[in-house]
Amino acid sequence: MVPLAPPVLSSKLPRVGTTIFTVMSKLATDLNALNLSQGFPNFPTDPALLDLVTKAMRAGHNQYAPMPGVPLLREAIARKTIDCYGVSYHPDTEVTVTTGATEGLYAAITTVVQPLDEVVVFEPAYDSYVPAIELAGGVPVYVTLTPANNYAIDWAVVREKITDRTRLVIINTPHNPTGRVWTRDDLDTLAGLIRDRDIFVVSDEVYEHILFDGRTHHSLMTHPVLQERTFVIGSFGKTFHTTGWKIGYCLAPKELTAEFRKVHQFVTFSVSTPMQYALAEYLQQPERYQSLPSFYEQKRDLFLAAIAPSRFTFIPTEGTFFQNVSYASITDEPDYDLAIRLTHEIGVASIPTSVFYEPNAARPKNDYKMLRFCFAKDDDTLLQAAERLCKL
Ligand code: PMP
Ligand code: GLN
Repeated sequence: MVPLAPPVLSSKLPRVGTTIFTVMSKLATDLNALNLSQGFPNFPTDPALLDLVTKAMRAGHNQYAPMPGVPLLREAIARKTIDCYGVSYHPDTEVTVTTGATEGLYAAITTVVQPLDEVVVFEPAYDSYVPAIELAGGVPVYVTLTPANNYAIDWAVVREKITDRTRLVIINTPHNPTGRVWTRDDLDTLAGLIRDRDIFVVSDEVYEHILFDGRTHHSLMTHPVLQERTFVIGSFGKTFHTTGWKIGYCLAPKELTAEFRKVHQFVTFSVSTPMQYALAEYLQQPERYQSLPSFYEQKRDLFLAAIAPSRFTFIPTEGTFFQNVSYASITDEPDYDLAIRLTHEIGVASIPTSVFYEPNAARPKNDYKMLRFCFAKDDDTLLQAAERLCKL
């Protein structure tokens, strides 16, 4: 008998490997390096929040949550949204709790994108958007932003990229990895470009509470033309230092939410019940997220003051817990190689920013000699890392 050959699997994501966050965090752990690569806090979560989870578990909230989320949490999210942005989403029909922002983004993109639809993506881009577009059969269309003009958007380019085939635009503000924050003018300009077309928006706003120097977060929901076509995605991972809980949410008008939930219910069905009860109660005190800008601004400033004597150059980040620095005056090696080498040689892990760009034939790698450092770390870790960076 001739043995049968095993079936050949044709990859749906042939260009995707293991994400840089997993690669760098594993390297940092293996080498016992200071991990300023993957975006997660290394300090403890508020014990009061942990106690609320235990309380919810002991109260018997341990079975499936309702598919759209625990009502108390959806109500708390709707209340917070009115408080922060003055915009009302109905908890029953317009708020959905998701398994982190990642699932919210995936479900929103899947809801909108049909095969061959074009999706405008601003790069550098968070790594989960393009695979989700491609799995839906869509085609990413890139608008490239670069450090040459501090990642400013050239709206003439955006205008050119929007065609009759465009179905979706993906926005991220405050932006990972650049820290750029969208202005009210940006919202107006985008609205002007898409208002008369069947174009939707997915707005990734997971860093909504982490903005510096008195900046305001202009959520896309605050613009009426954008609000009616936008899925706003949030995450409690960033806001309450709980990235491992993977609890996020999607806010969208009723008709959009109805379709979104059809996808959500078969991606994950529902989200961890006790965590939802705990978050619902924790959200009752708005100071808990209102204090975030000053908390992270202190960390940013501590880190920047400590690396100021180094040969790295930087523009202070406007938001998020990431700082990009240029190493052009230190070495011209590729950013990926340098990030690996610094982890080995000085025990500091970072993220090479070229990974947030799409490689293409003209520019195999958009290597602008920038590394991204996460400053959501305790002060000791930041100061130790800075001391090592200053020796380069
Ligand atoms: N969007 C952006 C811009 C992010 O930086 C992250 C990760 N931190 C996510 C989405 C994913 O968030 P979550 O961990 O809630 O899935
Ligand atoms: N968003 C985090 C970052 O940018 C990482 C999340 C992940 O590891 N997928 O570092």
